[in-house]
Amino acid sequence: KNPVPSDIEIAQSAELERISDIASGLGIPAGAVEEYGPYKAKIDWRLGGASEKAPRKAKYINVTAISPTPLGEGKTTTTVGLVQGFGKIGKNAVAALRQPSMGPTFGIKGGAAGGGYSQIIPMEDFNLHLTGDIHAVSAAHNLCAAAVDARIYHESRWSDGYFEKMGLSKLNPDPHGVAIGRVVDMNDRVLRHVVTGMGSRADGPLRQSHFDISVASEVMAILALASDMADLRSRLGRMVVAYDTKGNPLTAEDFKVAGAMAALLKDALKPNLLQTLEGQGAFVHTGPFANIAHGNSSVIADRIAVGYADYVVTESGFGSDMGMEKFFDIKCRSSGLVPDAVVLVATVRALKAHGGGPAVTPGKPLPAAYTEENLELLGNGMANLTAHLGIVRRFGIPAVVAINSFPTDTQAEWDLIRDAALKAGASDAVVSRHWALGGEGAADLAEAVEKAAAGKSEFKFLYPLENTLTEKIEKIAGEVYGADGVDFTAAAAETLERLESQGYGKLPICMAKTQYSLSHDPALKGAPRGWRLPVREVRLAAGAGFVYPICGDISTMPGLPSKPAFMNIDVDAEGRISGLF
Ligand code: ADP
Ligand code: MG
Repeated sequence: KNPVPSDIEIAQSAELERISDIASGLGIPAGAVEEYGPYKAKIDWRLGGASEKAPRKAKYINVTAISPTPLGEGKTTTTVGLVQGFGKIGKNAVAALRQPSMGPTFGIKGGAAGGGYSQIIPMEDFNLHLTGDIHAVSAAHNLCAAAVDARIYHESRWSDGYFEKMGLSKLNPDPHGVAIGRVVDMNDRVLRHVVTGMGSRADGPLRQSHFDISVASEVMAILALASDMADLRSRLGRMVVAYDTKGNPLTAEDFKVAGAMAALLKDALKPNLLQTLEGQGAFVHTGPFANIAHGNSSVIADRIAVGYADYVVTESGFGSDMGMEKFFDIKCRSSGLVPDAVVLVATVRALKAHGGGPAVTPGKPLPAAYTEENLELLGNGMANLTAHLGIVRRFGIPAVVAINSFPTDTQAEWDLIRDAALKAGASDAVVSRHWALGGEGAADLAEAVEKAAAGKSEFKFLYPLENTLTEKIEKIAGEVYGADGVDFTAAAAETLERLESQGYGKLPICMAKTQYSLSHDPALKGAPRGWRLPVREVRLAAGAGFVYPICGDISTMPGLPSKPAFMNIDVDAEGRISGLF
């Protein structure tokens, strides 16, 4: 029997410190702390605002992983464990994480606050509404969508002079050129394609539209990248939300809705402060997707955090090819923060899956290949780890491999990973037992990261913004993914040309590709060679400030499985939640 209780049992039996004490322990001025009950607070964004020039003090650490497998790697758990590990070696560290969408919490994934003895608490709040930021994003986004539809309706009803009389000019939005859909923070597959405007003329116009999950909204990406309120306001205004009948882009500013959207987000711009099981601060703020968006927590939270800790540990989404590349080339470009080291999380089991291990069925026991020593499968899977280490090294940053340990791992398996990692240029490779032991189990990892981050950072971006959009895409495909080249469809090439001529050519690239492979094909494990990256379509997120090429099928509205996680969740008569994991 597993001696480690369930995540929620551990979280609920923890003794929480008052969040005001956590904040004052970090040296955050009391006037900047807005408490939401005893255990959650919002921190004034001004502490990290661009105008404040937050004094940089901390070493800035990114946690990433090998290509995800259904066996899970444990990035969040390792992020929290490492912060607790720093605590054990006498360092002042904070975590900076994304707030998860509720969709996956009720679907397959369950909670996202870490696991075992490395968690953010209160975990129920972390996983459910927290302080309502995602709802605010939904409200701002849907206000904009309503503004566009209302404008189409009214412009179709009234003659030209009518708008002029009110001090407005006609925008001539094309009912077939609406770029914004609606959002809801739920896995709800039937909303992927919808018809809006049914009923009478005053209920129209009738058109086909779509819902995305809220965290896929460009508003979420904007909130995550904004450096202060003024920047948030102007980014919202730059969102291209429709096209006119001549095909010219129309922005949220054109619809005069960006100011009201920013008003709805005034509290959501403030990062949330929670705590780890061992009493360190944890910023939890924003949660953009890691494929069609950049998959990293907010710039503002990190800018605040680096002013109040010695080590800031932040997780990026998926593997190093996805969230980490975007962390560097999009987020760090926005924040101006320079990273010092990367922690690359790997597990014996996931590496075996990359080495050709048997398929895993959810709910069924793991095949023996994963639970017994198997150096052959593990050795084959090392290609994936080596490729990810190569990606980290490409940015000039030292990498420490964190071997997130499971009870079934053997010493020979750990030795094999460590040897391969050191050969591939890792600064160190350390077995970490933070899931089972908390910070104590990650003290070795913290020491290795301290050592790796000690020198002066030699960080460099993958590409200069001056490259053309096409050059930037080719560089990511070739140097990060290992592709032989890129094949653009005619439509994609045409869009790239149009974006260059409209002045969007200097934006960074945010690749929308599967996370399960370094390639665009989720079935290709390890480190695929001899393939070309197909780019089907290219889209613009002018407010967030990136161009996102679509490589393969990307769902922006997940569905629920046949036995979803919500079936286990309940409350008792006191309102105590059970079954969240
Ligand atoms: P990621 O952030 O990479 O998606 P998480 O840290 O959220 O991964 O972990 C995914 C799941 O795996 C969580 O439920 C967590 O409790 C579990 N987990 C992580 N590490 C371990 C471990 N060493 N032993 C057992 N379970 C673990
Ligand atoms: Mg995570």
